[in-house]
Amino acid sequence: DLQERVLELQGSIRVLCRVRPMVPSELEEMERRPELAAMGDPQVEVQYPDDDKLVFWGAPYQFERVFAPGTDQAAVFREVQPVVAAALNGYRVCIFAYGQTGSGKTWTMGSPTQRGEERGVNFRALAELFGRARDDATRSYAFTVSMLEVYNEEIRDLLAPASAAAAAENRHEIRLDRRGQVYVEGLVECAVTALDEVERLVELGGRNRTVGNNNVNLHSSRSHLVLQVAVAATYSASGAVQAGRLSLIDLAGSERLKSTAAEGQRLKEAQNINRSLSALGDVIAALGAGSRHVPYRNSKLTFLLQDSLGAGAKVLMFVNVSPHPASQGESVCSLNFAKRCR
Ligand code: ADP
Ligand code: MG
Repeated sequence: DLQERVLELQGSIRVLCRVRPMVPSELEEMERRPELAAMGDPQVEVQYPDDDKLVFWGAPYQFERVFAPGTDQAAVFREVQPVVAAALNGYRVCIFAYGQTGSGKTWTMGSPTQRGEERGVNFRALAELFGRARDDATRSYAFTVSMLEVYNEEIRDLLAPASAAAAAENRHEIRLDRRGQVYVEGLVECAVTALDEVERLVELGGRNRTVGNNNVNLHSSRSHLVLQVAVAATYSASGAVQAGRLSLIDLAGSERLKSTAAEGQRLKEAQNINRSLSALGDVIAALGAGSRHVPYRNSKLTFLLQDSLGAGAKVLMFVNVSPHPASQGESVCSLNFAKRCR
């Protein structure tokens, strides 16, 4: 039973590894370029029965769960479901996707271009929350959605009206309220009651993300996308309100800057990405080790999520990897990052 599985969740950090399949263009490329094929078949071996071991190009790794290339979205979501449901019970829940550009982060977390069975974690999670809220006779729920990106250590509101979204003042400060809860000053928050409303907001946010960016793909690989759902559950009997929150984060690409010649804007971007991803790794490692000092303040992202990463929080990290031989080096870096988070 799901409720029991929620209670059973041990510790607060779970790391799941997903290896995406080769995409058709890569399979063609492998045929065209024998030197790629000569590097060997992608060696991805998931060991049963527990599905928790990965042998990747000969090296063993262990995670809470490993998803082999053929795993579909529904099967992936089944592992995430109990953590998502915890947001209805007053938990702050964070789900991250970490990996190099092209490793399958957005496919996993979800984008509005996916339909039906392709739907990723974001829409499945919202559907789960709405469905459970509808079936709960003891509490009534209110949900609000916000969507922002962290780009170059600045916070941009993606649900601001288009003119404001484009404006130079679309830079928001993170603040703490009197109870020590984090909020982003001036951020648009939209009440939602059904999935189609969320879909419209996510589409709007995606369009706003592209405003003023001539290379959309490049931009999205260099910023962290954060979709947050605030949950307020009111007990019918007592009127008491319980607040939970679900944060879904499609991280910037983890790849290292290849060209040492990069300068100016490009170099600054890369440095900020490195800084915020390693700050995230430091925070998760500190939490996992039970350290007293958790360095939340080292990046905008960890500062923003500080009350969703510590006590009273559930954290789930996907490490996404590509099976492509040419990505082996970056994939190993991602797996090692994730290993440190366990
Ligand atoms: P990222 O967001 O990490 O840059 P994407 O999610 O955009 O990566 O994935 C890169 C490519 O691989 C896309 O064309 C995407 O459709 C495809 N892809 C990723 N994961 C899967 C999967 N599990 N099944 C099928 N195609 C996938
Ligand atoms: Mg992406």
